[in-house]
Amino acid sequence: MPENADRFRAARIAGFTESVIREMTRLALRHGAVNLAQGFPDFPAPDAVKEAAARAIAADRNQYAVTWGAEPLRRAIAGSYRRFYGMEVDADAEVTVVCGSTEGMIASLLATTDPDDEVVLFEPFYENYGPDTDLCSARRRYVKLHPPDWSFDLKELRAAFSQKTKAIILNNPHNPTGKVFTADELMQISGLCLEFGALCITDEIYEHITYGDAMHVPMAALPWMRDRTVTVSSASKTYSVTGWRVGWVVAPPEITASIRKVHDFLTVGAPAPLQYAAAEALALPDSYFEQLKSDYAARRRILMEALQKAGLHCTAPQGAYYVMADIRPAGFADGGGLCRTMVERIRVAAVPGSSFFEDQAAGAPWIRFCFCKKYETLEEAGRLLVEGLRAM
Ligand code: GLN
Repeated sequence: MPENADRFRAARIAGFTESVIREMTRLALRHGAVNLAQGFPDFPAPDAVKEAAARAIAADRNQYAVTWGAEPLRRAIAGSYRRFYGMEVDADAEVTVVCGSTEGMIASLLATTDPDDEVVLFEPFYENYGPDTDLCSARRRYVKLHPPDWSFDLKELRAAFSQKTKAIILNNPHNPTGKVFTADELMQISGLCLEFGALCITDEIYEHITYGDAMHVPMAALPWMRDRTVTVSSASKTYSVTGWRVGWVVAPPEITASIRKVHDFLTVGAPAPLQYAAAEALALPDSYFEQLKSDYAARRRILMEALQKAGLHCTAPQGAYYVMADIRPAGFADGGGLCRTMVERIRVAAVPGSSFFEDQAAGAPWIRFCFCKKYETLEEAGRLLVEGLRAM
């Protein structure tokens, strides 16, 4: 290995591995497989949203917006918290527009944690949160979500908190399990945040994708959590524009001031014309959000039926657009190996469950499928899986 390889590799990234989610996308492309790995839609964004973006570019909204976000978008974000959750958010002092919730999360952690602060994570967790905490030199403490319903044990959660806890990262609705935290669970988490003086950084990017009776309650909607909650969300999933990189962070004014400083030096700003278009997207009528939910419920049904037919076991997600499938009933034990064989031989890409676990043994029997795909894509994947897994 050349000397430079070690000399110029920072210790804080030494433990990074390639994102397995994005690696699976590359393998899917190489093998011509149906990609149920990386969570992005293969259907078009709504016409109204695309037209708004084209109009913004034609109207010369092509230079930097205000670094913390174009005013119409910040107002639209505040408006949507009022409309959906009855929350009052100050568009001038509490909203920062960022390059996707990915930047929102890392900017929030960089703005609020010091090296060796502890950050509590529910496991399984969305893979970015690991490197996010490493980039801050913070220490992770894990709390297990227990299958099949991915519930947590309050005693285990309490044991993860200490005087060193700076924050807990919540992801609700949850990727990869599809869990929607109940109001009771949020109360329990909030009680520990208060007791230990911790912040809750909550990634609510799937806030509008819930099923049946499951209802999304933002952590910041609990009045006593308002001054210690950082809410991260985005246009990506709600409007099927994951490539736009328009997200936002809502936090109390003094925390927002810190996040804005980090954001300013990290990226200056999110794409200006797309911010104006996102402002129009947020104002779409209620019927849009109802349709989004019912389309995703239909996609969920198609995928669940196929997975069950293929011999995998899965509990219906209550939110987001992923299913965690238990591969043991079909006679498999290693999700990593199965995903690599599947993408090559069955031509369906999924993500090994271990990507979402620190405890590799706990993650091994799971694989994650996403269903943010056209009905015909899901039906095709279903056919391939039912035939392919039986033959293996
Ligand atoms: N959030 C999506 C997923 O979990 C996409 C991840 C990404 O590549 N940014 O699959």
